Amino acid sequence: MGRVVGIDLGTTNSVVAVIEGGKPVIIANSEGMRTTPSVVGFNKDGELVVGQMARRQAVLNPQNTFYGVKRFMGRRYAELQPESLRVAYTVRGDEEENIKIRCPRLKKEFAPEEVSAMILRKLAEEAERYLGEEVTEAVITVPAYFNDSQRQATRNAGRIAGLEVKRILNEPTAASLAYGLDRQDNQTILVFDLGGGTFDVSVLDVGDGVFEVRATSGDTQLGGNDFDRRIVDWLAESFLETNGVDLRSKDRQALQRLMEAAEKAKIELSGVSVTDINLPFITATEDGPKHIETRLDRAEFENLCGDLVSRMRRPLKLVLSDAGISPVQIDEVVLVGGGTRMPIVQQLVRSLIDRSANQNVNPDEVVAVGAAIQAGIVTREVKDILLLDVTPLSLGLETIGGVMKKLLPRNTTIPVRRSDIFSTSENNQTMVEVHVLQGEREMAADNNSLGRFKLSGIPPAPRGVAQIQVSFDIDANGILQVTARDKTTGREQSITVAGSSTLSERKVSKMIADADKFAQGDRERRERVETRNRAAALTDRAARQLKEVSLDFGSQFASHYRRRIESLSDQILDSLERDDERRLDRAQADLQDALYEMNREVRLQYEDEEDGFFDSLKRTFVGNDYEDDYSYNTRESYGEKRRRRRPSYEDEYSSEGGYYDERERPRSPRYSNSYDSSSRSESRRRRAESAPQSGSVSGRPRYPNRPLQNDWDEDDDDDWF
Ligand code: ADP
Ligand code: MG
Repeated sequence: MGRVVGIDLGTTNSVVAVIEGGKPVIIANSEGMRTTPSVVGFNKDGELVVGQMARRQAVLNPQNTFYGVKRFMGRRYAELQPESLRVAYTVRGDEEENIKIRCPRLKKEFAPEEVSAMILRKLAEEAERYLGEEVTEAVITVPAYFNDSQRQATRNAGRIAGLEVKRILNEPTAASLAYGLDRQDNQTILVFDLGGGTFDVSVLDVGDGVFEVRATSGDTQLGGNDFDRRIVDWLAESFLETNGVDLRSKDRQALQRLMEAAEKAKIELSGVSVTDINLPFITATEDGPKHIETRLDRAEFENLCGDLVSRMRRPLKLVLSDAGISPVQIDEVVLVGGGTRMPIVQQLVRSLIDRSANQNVNPDEVVAVGAAIQAGIVTREVKDILLLDVTPLSLGLETIGGVMKKLLPRNTTIPVRRSDIFSTSENNQTMVEVHVLQGEREMAADNNSLGRFKLSGIPPAPRGVAQIQVSFDIDANGILQVTARDKTTGREQSITVAGSSTLSERKVSKMIADADKFAQGDRERRERVETRNRAAALTDRAARQLKEVSLDFGSQFASHYRRRIESLSDQILDSLERDDERRLDRAQADLQDALYEMNREVRLQYEDEEDGFFDSLKRTFVGNDYEDDYSYNTRESYGEKRRRRRPSYEDEYSSEGGYYDERERPRSPRYSNSYDSSSRSESRRRRAESAPQSGSVSGRPRYPNRPLQNDWDEDDDDDWF
């Protein structure tokens, strides 16, 4: 078994960790950050960007930047609260009530699972880079309060990302693993996790290698984002009052800017008691540009969020009563998630449980650390740990009159199997429908439907005679299988619940194939960019060498080659502009030949002269300097770049203090005896040798073939469908 990574796939931020030498290690991403924003975007060129890069483009390209997607995982469109739909990109429900995220840039729609898969893929790639080996297996965490369809959706996201999900682990359980790994003593702890979009609270018994969840509760639709929204509303409403414009419905960019400013203010208010909010040019009316310039103090902010804080009270009380303990029996409070940095949240916890929170765990990383420990348990790198998790919500089935009969009450320790006998409600009923439900309400309709299946072929009999045994099996991932068996005939029917709101197997397979295709497209695009970069680099090199030859041998000597080299360079630039790849290839080959010819001539001249006198020449014509040419500014188009760097013979002699970069100096001469042949085949061979291999540019930034621009058009989706 290869390495199994642990991934905290958060609503806002994601983290990947792995066990190394028996200890969990957080893997920093290529931008050097230990957490990666859970944001996926498509830039102007339709290229995928994930994490910080995607987050950065959110204001300029709001319709193609997807954040907070975890809130949509495994849910049906109709279940969403209007608040969740207030995002700057477009979310809709399809014919099957499944949620679709629209990407106008690609003229495509994604399921939330696919977007999450892109985040998972990025994290797995970061881990591969760090470990130097392929990563195909992972433990992924979910809020304990996630229902079955949300778990299945997370597992499917892993599959789409090419990861076998070895375990779906509850976030608070992960946090307790990280907290309690090295503890000998027995403790009852409360894990309180307020992330960007979800709130989770659990009570666990920890100690001596046993981690037993006693109860868990929470709210999957409550998180730090809701606090941001309160500030957004506060800003937008006062703006509406003074300017008569509702920024929330006016344009996506304004909304995105408001949200970012609100989050920033919220975070600042965790540290200071008053903060300034400045949003110049937020919009324009007939009276000209409008700005937001205001102050928000902590008291006012807490006022705005009072009801959100109250909403946390209920799950907190519930978890204590479900665990059968009183607040004084809690030995330690572990705070998880960025939201717990808010003083008002800390006060709430303090007011109910008179304990100051444990300061030894990093709230941003503790869940991923726990996921890595669980991954270590899977690979047996971590031993002697027993995890006893619970099912977060009651499970049962619909019985006559639309009543839910509970088979497994919430907080039942898993894995578990439980069954019960049911019968028919009508005479000669030969078929029963098993409708699997999850939730706490009495009536089936008020609970979450996980799926239905039919058991037929029941021998006709008076009502109440047939005996149908229904069993519920929950595995260690919290994933449920339901079986119904007719005791008379032995006929059996079962489903692994793939909830009505999650994707069918067929769709998941298609998404896996799509993701592959996407990766392939990305690769091809990258290769194209590299080819183009190489061509552009070659013209740069040609210009430089021409200039150097003129300097060393006089323009008379150079002019012999100049015309051809310049004309070929022009052809290359032109082909780049026109995207004419065949012509580009040809011109590139010819230019390499021309340079080779010129260099050969130079070499002959050099050999005619005394050693030492042309020392500088040795430096001039050695090696290829492609690498140095990979220094394009990504914001510059080739055209601009080339126009600027085109050799201009006016400034030929106004060199800015020497021609060579220090890096170029120590190269040894490359042109050796093999130059006695001037045959074309020989020159092609040379060319092949000197052409940069794609490997030679690895680790260097890749350059898009078009510049990023700031003029994202708002009418992007004009021709959508
Ligand atoms: P998730 O688990 O949803 O990915 P995180 O645990 O990373 O989320 O928490 C993200 C949330 O925490 C965001 O809403 C962010 O604004 C909030 N947050 C981060 N730092 C602070 C802070 N210092 N004060 C208040 N909120 C914060
Ligand atoms: Mg989290």
